[in-house]
Amino acid sequence: MYVLIDKKKSRGIIIAAALIIIAVAVTACILLFHEGVSENTVFPENVYGVSVHTRLLPVWTPKRPGIPRKIKYIVIHETGNRNNGADASAHSDYLRSVNGETASWHYTVDDKEIYHHIPDNEVAWHAGDGLSRNGGNRNGIGIELCVNSDGDFEKTFINAAKLTAYLLKQYGLTVKAIKQHADFIDKNCPETIRNTGRTEEFISLVSVYLNESPPE
Ligand SMILES: [Zn+2]
Repeated sequence: MYVLIDKKKSRGIIIAAALIIIAVAVTACILLFHEGVSENTVFPENVYGVSVHTRLLPVWTPKRPGIPRKIKYIVIHETGNRNNGADASAHSDYLRSVNGETASWHYTVDDKEIYHHIPDNEVAWHAGDGLSRNGGNRNGIGIELCVNSDGDFEKTFINAAKLTAYLLKQYGLTVKAIKQHADFIDKNCPETIRNTGRTEEFISLVSVYLNESPPE
């Protein structure tokens, strides 16, 4: 009888110890992995006078798979949503609330402010090219410019140039790293910029900010 109880007890202790070891190992792995994801990435609060709100999507979800990567490009998009009120805040809400869709990107810019949805050094699904080696998803920070009818696109254009310049500087890239969605797949995005022939103007404006120091 005593022997039986002892055996049961020691089995329980072994199982408990094993569970604790597994829990510690898993936690350590998660912390290490997560540290790896978040180091060398920036969470700006202000870029050349424009407020940036960090409102991250939950990690390890279809929209934010948490895949770490190197940053090679800044990929410019437009939301294509001309509805009144379809500003950066509304797109942040949209990303956080709509399920069953995997489309995602890093920043949304409107005429007043910027929302940051996914850390810059993680993959997001904005370029339509899967995880191809030199693709936009795998290597690019996706920036969406709002085109809402009640917004001022000229200001959005300037704010996006400011954010692009800031990110290029942070990650040691040049204006050559500025890409458009259309560089990766056959899609006319960013539509307004392309249709009005303003691609070079955008790059020139980024260069102007690149030569300035961002305010503290
Ligand atoms: Zn696009």
